[in-house]
Amino acid sequence: MSNKIETKCVQAGYTPKNGEPRVLPIIQSTTYKYETSQEMGDLFDLKAEGYFYSRLANPTNDAVASKIAALEGGVAAILTSSGQAANFFALFNIVNAGDHIVASSAIYGGTFNLISVTMKKMGIDATFISPDSTYEEICTAIKPNTKAVFGETLANPSLAVLDIETFANAAHDNGLPLIVDNTFPTPINCRPIEFGADIVTHSTTKYMDGHASVVGGVVVDSGNFDWTKYPEKFACLVEPDPSYHGVSYTEQFGKAAYITKLTVQLMRDLGSIPPAITSFMLNLGLESLHLRVQRHCENARKIANYLTSNPKVTWVNYPDLEDNKYNRLAKKYLPNGSSGVISFGVAGGRESATKFMDSLKLAAVVTHVADARTCCLHPASTTHRQMTDEQLIECGTTPDLIRLSVGIENADDIIEDIAQALENI
Ligand SMILES: *Cc1c(COP(=O)(O)O)cnc(C)c1O
Repeated sequence: MSNKIETKCVQAGYTPKNGEPRVLPIIQSTTYKYETSQEMGDLFDLKAEGYFYSRLANPTNDAVASKIAALEGGVAAILTSSGQAANFFALFNIVNAGDHIVASSAIYGGTFNLISVTMKKMGIDATFISPDSTYEEICTAIKPNTKAVFGETLANPSLAVLDIETFANAAHDNGLPLIVDNTFPTPINCRPIEFGADIVTHSTTKYMDGHASVVGGVVVDSGNFDWTKYPEKFACLVEPDPSYHGVSYTEQFGKAAYITKLTVQLMRDLGSIPPAITSFMLNLGLESLHLRVQRHCENARKIANYLTSNPKVTWVNYPDLEDNKYNRLAKKYLPNGSSGVISFGVAGGRESATKFMDSLKLAAVVTHVADARTCCLHPASTTHRQMTDEQLIECGTTPDLIRLSVGIENADDIIEDIAQALENI
């Protein structure tokens, strides 16, 4: 397989043998047949490789996971039923009750709730730090019971760019893996493993599917973190697992230890596997990911420039703009473009923003980002409507903020739609 990302998007993960279907088959089967009980028993003991029940693994899912692992430059990956499940599994695979997580505060709201509320109920504590933290500040937040450091390459919705190298160095110097959610840039724009991230997650619901058709997630392991160097901290990977006749994942599976444990333990017990048909659809999205992401970014740059020049727009947040707070980091980590997501403010605050939204014709008002169709969200009147103006300002989602997810339509058409809606306020 070529090492070029465009070729991997189209061809990685599935190589048919003579006479087999050219297109990835949908293996719509919960079970797999074997000649003898012994063969089946060896699978259960993890002595042999193969499929036995689709709650743990399915060939269609595995092919798509391998493609994403290839795109990210990882050694192994597993698909999950949602991005939420991906982030939960990525953390819970190595974090137990009584442990602690250090996370960037600039992360997706769902992930923030997962870590700060739901995982807290499971006895897992977290410290949230600014995405702009220095090496020393990250080290200070790390405690003896910390098991992972977590952040987003390009934060949803704040568009803060994570200094992956600084976070990775601080994590590694404290014997910890860095887990990075790379949903917005996708591996087309950034491959966090190249900058030191150990585990990469995605909500594939966004650009990877790209058509707003299927919810899904993925966890990719770089294979670079040496769990055996910290056998006490990561006993769950190094020490014998009593639920598998005392197998040590690192001993038996080497670089595949983390994903193997996630598959045979967490998927076995919690079961968040996607249906094969969903993975098939995700794969169709991945085949054009390189083309779509390029166009999303090209269009978003034109629209960000247009917004900057419109007097009714008070501010524009897009990391590719020279005057953006994160432009220096964007140039380093996202040299080909950040994503299609822009946020901006309109003069006249909440009322103007609502009028703008109601005047849009081409851009749809939906609670989604990162698909082929241009869409728009006004958090103050929708996702964040329970909050007062003061609370909104405090959390950085000001009442005038509009989040625009630029699609792959003709850029002039999108600009024309925005222009007429701005005229109306
Ligand atoms: C949407 C999103 C998630 C959650 O993914 P779902 O597929 O909706 O469960 C996680 N992280 C980021 C950055 C997201 O944008």
